[in-house]
This record gives sequence, C-alpha cells and structure tokens, in this order.
Amino acid sequence: MKTEVIKVEHESDEGILKAAELLKKGGVVAIPTETVYGLAANAFDEKAVAKIFEAKGRPSDNPLIVHISELSQWDALVESVPENAMKLAKAFWPGPLTIILKKSNLIPLRTSGGLDTVGVRMPLHPIARAIISAAGVPLAAPSANISGKPSPTSAKHCEKDLDGRVPLIIDSGDCSVGVESTVITLAGEVPRVLRPGGISVEMLTEVLGEVEVDSAVFEKLADGAVAASPGMKYKHYSPSAKVTIVKGSFEKFRDFVEGMEKESTVALVFDGEGRELSVPFIEYGKAHDGLSQAHGIFDALRKVDETGAKNCFARFPEKDGVGLAVFNRLVRAAAFSIIEL
Ligand code: AMP
Ligand code: MG
Repeated sequence: MKTEVIKVEHESDEGILKAAELLKKGGVVAIPTETVYGLAANAFDEKAVAKIFEAKGRPSDNPLIVHISELSQWDALVESVPENAMKLAKAFWPGPLTIILKKSNLIPLRTSGGLDTVGVRMPLHPIARAIISAAGVPLAAPSANISGKPSPTSAKHCEKDLDGRVPLIIDSGDCSVGVESTVITLAGEVPRVLRPGGISVEMLTEVLGEVEVDSAVFEKLADGAVAASPGMKYKHYSPSAKVTIVKGSFEKFRDFVEGMEKESTVALVFDGEGRELSVPFIEYGKAHDGLSQAHGIFDALRKVDETGAKNCFARFPEKDGVGLAVFNRLVRAAAFSIIEL
C-alpha cells in the first residue's frame, strides 16, 4: 500500500475531506491530536477497527479510546453519563482526558478490547475535531505507532512506523502535549486513574474530591495479575537500546555515565546538562518542568535508537503534576529498571 502524507493547517483544508472520505469507507487514517498522533477508524465499524490492530500489530485485548467532537455524541457510546463524568467533561473537554464508563451495545467488543467499558475523549486539537465532524462518526484511535514503540508526536514519527501500512497520514506539525491522555475510570466505586497524562491527578482531585491512582501507574504488574488498564501489561514506549533510569543529583549522574563506554552509551538528560558530559546525550526537556519533559520525551526516546547506542541512562523525572506521566512512560521504556545513586 502506498502511504500519502497531506499537510493540513486549517479546518477548511482539503486533507480533512480526504481523511473523512477514507474513514467513511471503513479505512484508517493517522491524524494529529494535541496528545500524540492517533490511528483512527470508525468506532462503530468492527472491520475498520480491525485494520487499526493489524496496522499497529496491537494485541486484540488492548482497548481503543473513542474520540468525539461534540458532547452530544457521548450518550450513544455509554450506558449512561453520571454526574461525576459530566463534571469532568465540563472541566477538561476538549482536552487530554479519557473517561471510562460502561459501554453501550453500539460499541463493538473489537473496539473495547473485549471489555464491557469504553474510554471516550474529546480532543482539543482543532484538526482532530474537524476530521471527526467531517467523518460524522466517533473515531476509535490509539497512538499511530507500531505497538510497543515510542508514541508518535510528529507526522515523521508516524511515517517511520506506518509507511506502507496505512493509506493516509495527516500532518499538522508537532503535538503540543506530547504524552497520551490521562485515563480515568468511573466504572468502579471510586474514580481511579489508570494512566497519567496531560491532566494531572491534582487537577482531577480538585474537581472530584476523591481520586485513586492505580498501583500499576508506579509499579510493575505482578505475574498473573489482571490489569485494570490492559495496555499496562505490555512492555511499552521502548527504544531498542536498554534504558535505565538513574536517580540522584546531576553530579552523581555525570560521574556514573562518564564511567561508561562512550561508543555504546547515550545519556537522556535535561536541557543544558549535555554540555557537561563527554558521552553522547539527548536532552528531553527542562528540569523541574513536567510539561516541557512531556513534550520532548517520545522524540528523545526515538532519537536514542538513531544514535545506535546499546545502553541509555536517563535522568529521573519528578513525579508531580504532568511529571507523573513522564515518569510512567519512562519507567515502562526502562522496563522498570531504576538505579539509585
Ligand atoms: P493508546 O490508545 O495507545 O493511547 O492506549 C489506550 C490505553 O487506554 C489502553 O492501552 C488502556 O490501557 C487504556 N484504556 C482504554 N480504554 C480502556 C478501558 N475501557 N478500560 C481500561 N483501560 C482502557
Ligand atoms: Mg499507544
């Protein structure tokens, strides 16, 4: 299959109609959102959704998030919208928050990964919303990467992974947030964050009062344990190099990586730290600034492989605010390997 890449800057650009045509016919299209690029298909169409799993090599029990452009589309997707859910939507939509509720019969099990729940989100990106509106149906869309690889935050990243596997990529430049949406489930008794993202736990707590954070956000799932968020089972976001997170001051980090073999090592550090190192380095954002790190982390993880390094040592991000999302992605890229100096 030949992959076409169309640049789209405005909501009236022709690429949007082309994307909508393909989506209406049951095809898949890679589209920009403010979090990461998504690989979209009609959420109601099982055959279309199957193409997403095939193109990504995604395990079939890993559910897809359904994207809407109008609040009125939500009702048909879920059994009911409780008050809590409406409060969250009012506070954070359009934006990087996915809300999980019991699904309606219109959502095929293919889309929900076999679960009786569905995650719904209204993206902030105007091009994403324009494509959903033009397609006229909610769009199921996971990240537009090969399953397991770092998520795509530019059309180039999508092309690298999906060239020849999808008919169309819509290019609207870099994603502003840079990590996937926060996922919160309201299907249980207490609201629970299953995946941290651009909307922080602190922000959610302010609206809902009580919010739990699933232990799988911080820890490796025990062997045989059932994941509340199936995506968390799989090794994720990983470059081919072995990633290790190194906890401690920059001085200690520097002494540690300087002792490594230069040819096979790359350091993943905060902005401005690289010039103090003699080993190859990639900077992934400002220190103490979760938003900036979120914006840079996936591009940095992709660049790790371009260096050809076998080992990557990463500075430890702080876990507050959006930093928790950065920590969560990095610790999975590192398969939970952390050294404390
Ligand atoms: P992606 O689309 O690649 O960003 O991944 C979406 C992730 O959201 C999945 O891997 C799950 O971890 C989580 N998720 C989506 N829908 C549900 C759901 N119904 N129940 C639990 N987790 C979900
Ligand atoms: Mg993904």
